[in-house]
Amino acid sequence: MSYDEQTVIDRYFRHLGAVRTDVVLGIGDDAALLRALPGCELVQTSDALVEQVHFLPGSPPRSLGHRALAINLSDLAAMGASPAWAMLSLTLPQIDESWLGEFAAGFGVLARTWQVALVGGNLSRGPLSVTVQLTGQVPAGTALRRGGAQVGDELWVSGTLGDASLGRAAPSAAEAGGHADWLRTRYEYPTPRIALGEALRGIASACIDLSDGLLADAPRIAAASGCGAWLDVEQLPISAALRALSGESAWERALAGGEDYELFLAAPPARAAALEGVAARLSVPLTRCGQLRAAPGVELRRGGAVIQFSQSRFDHFAP
Ligand SMILES: [Mg+2]
Repeated sequence: MSYDEQTVIDRYFRHLGAVRTDVVLGIGDDAALLRALPGCELVQTSDALVEQVHFLPGSPPRSLGHRALAINLSDLAAMGASPAWAMLSLTLPQIDESWLGEFAAGFGVLARTWQVALVGGNLSRGPLSVTVQLTGQVPAGTALRRGGAQVGDELWVSGTLGDASLGRAAPSAAEAGGHADWLRTRYEYPTPRIALGEALRGIASACIDLSDGLLADAPRIAAASGCGAWLDVEQLPISAALRALSGESAWERALAGGEDYELFLAAPPARAAALEGVAARLSVPLTRCGQLRAAPGVELRRGGAVIQFSQSRFDHFAP
């Protein structure tokens, strides 16, 4: 059975995602027509997943569909934006019906969860890659940025860190006991912190999503704000699963593992109670783990002492 591009779009993508009244014209014309909310700024991002670079051959297609959208949603969350419209560009080596069905299901469930309409894209033949472009909206002037925080602002992180990195290493049930499935899910189905990002508008002074790991992303928020920072590795939020498997070295994976897609933010100390209120209302843990300071660079502390740690040391120990 052979398919042309139109048949694949009709079968798998035309009705994928949320139905939104601000989509004047969706998939099917030369371009989409979208109606932005008055008084809002548009927030746009794009991210690609390429086979052999970002994922291994044979990766579950449902997870790829989820992750391709989730990593873009996470970028909008970091800006405090509300997601709205997605474009999907898919390059496939061949048409595989069961692969497409699973991929579309992973993408579609997450899109409907966050009211994202799929409004267009492209399909072509070639090495497997998935590119999503996502547009959201934010009331003018309220978007969160990496820069804008001040010396003295406290640093907070959502959720727990390091689980995705351990899940990517795919520990066997024998190694991970009852935690193996949960850890794999943390890697294959990351949770974008959209509701948290929206709630942080007017509270956080700067924000970034943790795609590359705190060790890489913390210096970005500090540098964009024109300052340095210290982080206390003993304050990093660590799940029971990571603690059980990694024990004393859990903080190393939490610091350097990456792909957690949690939010890392700065806020003045006077807003700590507001942050705790947001965390309680949304049932998303927020943990204070450091502070911005005038001296440049990011200093790591453990039990009050300054420690040295590098990504290469972590990679050396990673399975
Ligand atoms: Mg990002």
